[in-house]
Amino acid sequence: MTQAPARWSGETEGKPAPEPLSRVQALVNTVDLESGADRLALVADAQPWLQTQGLVASDGAIPPEDLGTIREFRDALRTMLVHNAGGPAPTDQQLRPLSRIAESSAARVQLRADGTVQVAADGDSLAGRLLSLLLVVSEAQRDGTWAQLKACGNEDCRWAFYDRSRNHGGTWCEMSTCGNKLKNREFRARRRAT
Ligand SMILES: [Zn+2]
Repeated sequence: MTQAPARWSGETEGKPAPEPLSRVQALVNTVDLESGADRLALVADAQPWLQTQGLVASDGAIPPEDLGTIREFRDALRTMLVHNAGGPAPTDQQLRPLSRIAESSAARVQLRADGTVQVAADGDSLAGRLLSLLLVVSEAQRDGTWAQLKACGNEDCRWAFYDRSRNHGGTWCEMSTCGNKLKNREFRARRRAT
């Protein structure tokens, strides 16, 4: 069992995205890159979390290769959040796990009784469940909230946070940790240089 980082206890995000974009944030934040703790590393750790998120069926074991697919999907999403934070645009290769899901699954348009039109993933295969997360991304890109979901500017961290700062210029998951750490590092580097 991997040691859960402090940030997982209580399941609260310091800078939470609105629903349902918070589902994307939660998936990206299943790994703590600084400690290496990954709640999707082992089926036993991953299964309860993936079930509560609706990313796997509530019955039956998860094949280990499905876990690999979900981790790759997560890491591809993170490259998009790095770009939202002003980093480089993801390459085709980095986006491949997402395009694979898009190509291998379909969505269905549903008309509800009250006249609202909804687009939902067709079927409940793993690809279908991951496609539902891509539909959340699509919705967020349309309503403008996507650009505010960012990966921390500290490249050892890359924690996903929702930037609620007024000018949307936030860079750090937490100023008290990553922001100051980097500032101190830069300060020491400058001092060495002079
Ligand atoms: Zn950070």
